[in-house]
Amino acid sequence: MGHFVDEFTSEIADAVDTNEAVQITQDLVRAPSENPPGREHLAAAVARQWLEEAGCEGFEEFEEFEGRTNLIASWGDSSSGPRLIFNGHLDVVPAADADGWDNPPFSAVVKDGKIFGRGTSDMKSGIAAMIEAVAALNRVGFKPRGHVQFQLVADEESFGRHGTEFLLRKNLLAGDAAVIGEPTSLMICLGERGAYWATIHATGRAAHGSVPEQGISAIEKVAKAAVALHGREFSESHPLLGKPTLNVGTIAGGTKVNVVADRASISIDRRAVPGETEEGVQGQIEAILEEIKAGDPDCEFNIEVFGFAEPSIIQKDAPIVRLLADSVESQTGGPPDYYGSPGATDARFLRNQGRIPAVVFGPGIMGAAHTVNEFADVASIGIASKVYAELAYRFFSTWETAS
Ligand SMILES: [Zn+2]
Repeated sequence: MGHFVDEFTSEIADAVDTNEAVQITQDLVRAPSENPPGREHLAAAVARQWLEEAGCEGFEEFEEFEGRTNLIASWGDSSSGPRLIFNGHLDVVPAADADGWDNPPFSAVVKDGKIFGRGTSDMKSGIAAMIEAVAALNRVGFKPRGHVQFQLVADEESFGRHGTEFLLRKNLLAGDAAVIGEPTSLMICLGERGAYWATIHATGRAAHGSVPEQGISAIEKVAKAAVALHGREFSESHPLLGKPTLNVGTIAGGTKVNVVADRASISIDRRAVPGETEEGVQGQIEAILEEIKAGDPDCEFNIEVFGFAEPSIIQKDAPIVRLLADSVESQTGGPPDYYGSPGATDARFLRNQGRIPAVVFGPGIMGAAHTVNEFADVASIGIASKVYAELAYRFFSTWETAS
């Protein structure tokens, strides 16, 4: 099998058209699907045209809200054989400060081997490379024993509620293995920390600012919480993902300089490692606040959770990871690098609730995501297209479905 794979893989790689992959990236970037507000339907329409050209069928669109499009399409034989999922998000973070960009953020200018614009790295080049991979397989006439399912989703940048999680709630997440094309700089990402986002409200008692001893300052109380929480060291630890962290991201409170503040709040971003749950993290935050109260009975806090993404991992020796590693090695000439990510992606829905082995790999540059002058590397887009194509080829040639 190994020799057979090697011969056909160079033919597939030769069929990848890097210029076309760049063109797909440009077309996707020029559909400004900023989240908020979303408008993924703009990018979905562009993706759909290219997917059709690549020989995909079975198009379906799912929207929890108008414009928040999740596009499903398949390539190959969807009546039998295994399913390989190519998952990517269509939304991008807002370009925000358009003045800070050297080129308009949705112009997708190509210059010096780079393509510039919002979403180039995170992650429209990843989606483009996945489409180009299938286009190449189609051109060489490969007939897969099974099919690739594209899941081009909405809302990844805001916890995925209207995107991959929405597909999960509709029982649409099923497959034998999945690749997510998030920016990994062509490294293989095996796991990611989770995130617990909450606002901690402190309640005090207003009084005239000239007699602060007659009131209870919610600002003073919330400041104690901020000092106790920010940068705190936690004992939990994971070999791939390290330790939890805690950032106090915002602080607000008070009404007037001469009034003792009766309300104040902070928002916290507590990153979680595998083994931790929302309840566990919440309990830990409550215990820290209880400690503060023990030393200052006037403290009154309540916690309002507004986001939770659980951590997730895949083992390095999982079959889909090994197929990907072999494909990377064959297309780049060297073994891949592996890492764990401090931030979360939609991989958690596939891995944890969908029970689908999912690995994250893409052409986008990790440090470029969400930045002004975001860019992707043209050569990497070509390499990722070849890796995805070879991966799909190896998958359909070797994957054994559970009977
Ligand atoms: Zn992303």
